[in-house]
Amino acid sequence: MYDVLIVGAGPAGLTAAANTAHRGLKSLVIEKQSFPGGLPTLVYPDKIIRDHPGFPVGILGKELSRMLVIQAQNAGAQIRCDEEVVRIERSASSREDETPPLVVKTSLGEYQAKRVILCTGSYNVPKKLEILKNYTGPNVHYRVEVPSRFKGKEVVIVGGGDHAFDTAIQLSEVAAKTTVLVREAYAKAKESSVKLAQQMGVKVLYHTSPVKISKKASGLLQGVQVVDLETGKTESIKADELFIAIGFEPIRRFLENNGFIVREDGSIRVDQNLQTNIEGVFAAGDVTGEIKLIATACAEGIIAAIHAFEEIKKPYWLR
Ligand SMILES: Cc1cc2nc3c(=O)[nH]c(=O)nc-3n(C[C@H](O)[C@H](O)[C@H](O)COP(=O)(O)OP(=O)(O)OC[C@H]3O[C@@H](n4cnc5c(N)ncnc54)[C@H](O)[C@@H]3O)c2cc1C
Repeated sequence: MYDVLIVGAGPAGLTAAANTAHRGLKSLVIEKQSFPGGLPTLVYPDKIIRDHPGFPVGILGKELSRMLVIQAQNAGAQIRCDEEVVRIERSASSREDETPPLVVKTSLGEYQAKRVILCTGSYNVPKKLEILKNYTGPNVHYRVEVPSRFKGKEVVIVGGGDHAFDTAIQLSEVAAKTTVLVREAYAKAKESSVKLAQQMGVKVLYHTSPVKISKKASGLLQGVQVVDLETGKTESIKADELFIAIGFEPIRRFLENNGFIVREDGSIRVDQNLQTNIEGVFAAGDVTGEIKLIATACAEGIIAAIHAFEEIKKPYWLR
């Protein structure tokens, strides 16, 4: 029996785990990926995070995650990777005066915990482009695993948000040419990132969408046909590598299947203590709402951890 089981080893989950373990609660984090860290390791390991408090010159995504993992482990939390939480249920009560424990079913087994903190993030898998439905070649990417792989290549990035522009800035340092295709007449990414990308020679094509890819005889990617959504004119752009950054499928189905109340934007409904509609289950980080930042995810991890601690230990100073 665990005191607290945390679903997801991203910034929210790792910070919650460090906090509950520090307070002497037996804490377990379950992570479906093969490594902990959440989005900073999964999606932007080599990006310099410049807006996280306490790091005036910035910190790499993977480095920040590594430190959060060490902090949670040093506090005594266990982290299990490659295991996906699929169901959260309440077990039958044995005593009337006691809240029955929660049963957490995973891809590998089953655990009991007094409290659960959901830190799943709000994203699931990256959204795919319809035109790539039948293409399985190696030149389509959703995250930069090995930046040197793009050295000297002509890279086309699809998307207008931070992910697209952060990737463009990163790849422009090694690629021969970097082009970003933005569907709208403006980019959603931070203005500073758009400016920096342009200063680094990234070409940005607004109101432009990819409509078709062309392949070489070998099956490798050759180029992308794009359409100007204002004029209807099409053109072909050479592309050795194509990077897709058009967002992620929301995690809504997992939440709804487990009986959580989900708001219209796909976030989970919580009260001011970050308690969900299911008693004993808290939620923290991107999964709860609008502001999606590492610092706010960590802060919510701490808030949920303290309320879980309060309910389990009922300390006199928190009554
Ligand atoms: C491209 C990009 C760039 C960004 N840049 C910045 C930045 O510069 N600064 C900043 O502050 N923020 C940035 N963010 C936002 C930041 O990454 C998030 O706000 C933060 O990661 C949220 O942390 P989290 O722990 O809530 O969720 P996540 O980091 O998404 O972690 C959730 C974890 O839960 C796991 N999980 C999900 N479901 C299950 C399940 N059923 N079972 C087990 N495990 C599960 C996931 O695999 C994941 O590891 C960026 C986001 C993106 C996409």
